[in-house]
Amino acid sequence: MDTNKLISLHGGHSGQYCNHARDLLEDIIQKYIELGFTKIGITEHVPPVSDQFLYPDEKKLNLTTADLHKRFEDYFKNLKNLKKKYISKIIIFTGMETETYTGYVDHIKKLISKFKPNYIVGSVHHIDDICFDYSKEEYDRVVSMCGSYEAMYEKYFDLQYDMIKALKPFIVGHFDLIRIYDKDYKKRLLLPQINQKIQRNLTLVKSLNLVMDFNLRPLARGEKEPYITGSILKTVKKMGIRVVPGDDSHGVTEAGLHVDKAIEILKTAGFETQWPDPMLLT
Ligand SMILES: [Zn+2]
Ligand SMILES: [Zn+2]
Repeated sequence: MDTNKLISLHGGHSGQYCNHARDLLEDIIQKYIELGFTKIGITEHVPPVSDQFLYPDEKKLNLTTADLHKRFEDYFKNLKNLKKKYISKIIIFTGMETETYTGYVDHIKKLISKFKPNYIVGSVHHIDDICFDYSKEEYDRVVSMCGSYEAMYEKYFDLQYDMIKALKPFIVGHFDLIRIYDKDYKKRLLLPQINQKIQRNLTLVKSLNLVMDFNLRPLARGEKEPYITGSILKTVKKMGIRVVPGDDSHGVTEAGLHVDKAIEILKTAGFETQWPDPMLLT
């Protein structure tokens, strides 16, 4: 494996700045260096827009929106310092991962102008302001609120379309995350009414020259394939859309995990492995 090619442009969540992650950010960066990465994107979750969107683990700790905004300031300060500290060993791209709840467009734009990240990862974790990927229970709640799996998938891809248009994220995060707790996702993603929305979103991604996250978190959980699934990956290849691995790491042991496997899958599928450098496009 040519270590110059090892890359992740989505991940580096750390226990320092995220309650569902572990370890210190600096230890995670040192792990990437140890593994031979020469470029890495660090993309912590943004703080919530209001207390309504605190994650259950944050609520349990009685954290407030104000606390998390302060913590996010510390994150960028530390990340920019680490970028300088390790400059001779690794190029660190500073980033953040977005949300799509009510009020997100102004919220994210404010964060971008305040912290000036190198780029952002555009992700959808909420439908109708409920987070669907936090647990199976929450996912099922969103399914019943939407009326069916199909209706939920359609809502997800509509929200994603609006987000991509509004934020133009350099990396489109885990494009088919909506499948997370659905055993029948392969069939479902091919249904005409859902597939048509996927095609629409990919056409937008292509027209804005954005990059798809080849997200390895499912492999870390023991699942068979990354986000995006094989059928969408094929379409993405046909459309000439770029794809870059993202380990979506939430601790030292996950840093760089399965990136070699991802590169092999992408190579076999005929993708370019000269990775593009992130840019802020908003
Ligand atoms: Zn996370
Ligand atoms: Zn995410």
